[in-house]
Amino acid sequence: SEFKAFSLLESIIDRVALKGYKQPTPIQKECIPALINGNDLLGIAQTGTGKTAAFSLPIINKFGRDKIGQDKVDNKAKSTRSLILTPTRELASQIMQNIDDYSTDLELKTKVVYGGVGRQGQVDAIKLGLDILVATPGRLLDLIETGDINFKALEVFVLDEADTMLDMGFFNDVQTIISKLPKKRQTLLFSATMPAEIEILAQAILTNPKKVQI
Ligand code: AMP
Repeated sequence: SEFKAFSLLESIIDRVALKGYKQPTPIQKECIPALINGNDLLGIAQTGTGKTAAFSLPIINKFGRDKIGQDKVDNKAKSTRSLILTPTRELASQIMQNIDDYSTDLELKTKVVYGGVGRQGQVDAIKLGLDILVATPGRLLDLIETGDINFKALEVFVLDEADTMLDMGFFNDVQTIISKLPKKRQTLLFSATMPAEIEILAQAILTNPKKVQI
C-alpha cells in the first residue's frame, strides 16, 4: 500500500494493513512525513478524516522498539515522552485503542488517564516511564498538582480538538498544563475550527508549523 512510502517501521505498516487501511487519507499523506521530520503542525480537521493515525503513527514510530533485540538498546522511557491531550474520555479511550492496535508488535509503554476512575493505577503506570500518555485535562492537572507526573523528558505534545476544549470550558486548564511542559518540544495542534482564541494559542505554542487543512 501507499503506507510503504512513509519511513515507518515495518510492523506499523503491517498493522495498518491488518486494520484494512488501503491507502493513507489526505491528512495522513500530509502530516506523516512532516511529523517524522520533526515539524510542528497545525491541523484544521474534524474527526473522521483519519487524524488519529496521522498523529499517532509518527509518535509510535519515534518511540516504539522492536521486541526482539530491545535489550541491546537503552531506549526505555524514564518519564513521560509524549502527551496527547484530548477533551473527553471517549476520545481518549478511542485514541488509546488505536495506538495499542498500531503498536501491537512493538515494545511501547502507553497509558490513558481520565477522571471518574481510580488514580492509583494511573500513577503506577506513569512512574514506570511512559512513551505515550493520552489524557483529559482535569485528571492530568490533578496528577500534575500532586506531583505524580513530571514532563522533564517530554518530547512531543499533541493538543487534540482544541476548539472543543474551549467549548467545554477546559481552556484555562489546557493553558496551565502547557505552561508545565518543556519549551523545547514538537507540538501538534488539531482543531475543527479556528476561533480567535485558538488562533492566538496556535501562534504562541507552534514554531513554523506545517499547516494542513482538510
Ligand atoms: P479519525 O478521524 O482518526 O477518528 O478516524 C476515523 C476512522 O477512519 C477510524 O475508524 C479509523 O480507524 C479509520 N481510518 C483511519 N485511517 C484510515 C485509512 N487510511 N483508511 C481507512 N480507514 C482509516
